[in-house]
Amino acid sequence: MDLFDLHGKVAIVTGGNGGIGLGIARGLAQAGACVAIVGRNEEKTSVAQAELGEHSLGLRVDVTDAADVQRMVQQTVECFGGLDIMVANAGMNIRKTPESYALEEWQQIVDTNLTSVFTCSQAVFPEFQRRGGGKILTIGSMTSIFGFDVGSVYAATKGGVVQLTRSLASAWAKDNIQVNCILPGWIDTDLTRRARHNLTGLSERVVSRTPARRWGTPADLAGAAVFLCSPASDFITGTALPIDGGFSSSMF
Ligand code: NDP
Repeated sequence: MDLFDLHGKVAIVTGGNGGIGLGIARGLAQAGACVAIVGRNEEKTSVAQAELGEHSLGLRVDVTDAADVQRMVQQTVECFGGLDIMVANAGMNIRKTPESYALEEWQQIVDTNLTSVFTCSQAVFPEFQRRGGGKILTIGSMTSIFGFDVGSVYAATKGGVVQLTRSLASAWAKDNIQVNCILPGWIDTDLTRRARHNLTGLSERVVSRTPARRWGTPADLAGAAVFLCSPASDFITGTALPIDGGFSSSMF
């Protein structure tokens, strides 16, 4: 058995039409998986789907809508005949000081970053049980570990994602479902490009604070994602793995 082979496996990657999600979708597809990429922006999704090729599917889904999430699972199973891997990657941020958030903004960030991980996990559970197991990969952040002055709500959701990951892992290990989280450091995507644009000096601060002395790229996430979605990690569940160029291991 090739420990990292995903031929015959079917994956969903939420937010798979760009950034980290597309980096992960490329990795899973290269390892042999059929991949459904999910997002709201149909133009981005169709470009990403064209790149991934015939063993991919593009779905317009808003992960904050529980009915949409159910439809996403149903359509993927109909298209590929089953489902083995759920990468709950979709996420967003609104950068503000804590005192400036409106309750609606709190709700939008929580719905997108945390509640959707729960609804996606619930939605795949019956199909994973039917298949005899499965893999769920969630996406935390350095803010799962550190506080973030202009991202208090985001950090609360990313801390929550790690605890949700551990709880799902502990509940569903008996069903042969492994649930793990990756904690990306600073990765160059649309999300952080906006931050770089708005926060003077951020780009340089990230490079000097990261022992690897560079920003990460979406491709940096692919190897760990394939590992945590493959038979190579069948006895690993409930972990939170930093992929951060050493950021979380270093004082400076
Ligand atoms: P991007 O902004 O580049 O991508 C976000 C993705 O999420 C897009 O594909 C977007 O698709 C999708 N998305 C957002 N909201 C929804 C929604 N309601 N329904 C469906 N899809 C949605 O960000 P990143 O690639 O940087 O972020 C991906 C994940 O990684 C997030 O969870 C983020 O918090 C996390 N992360 C990122 C880090 C970084 O440095 N970049 C560091 C740590 C964690 P569409 O617009 O089509 O809806």
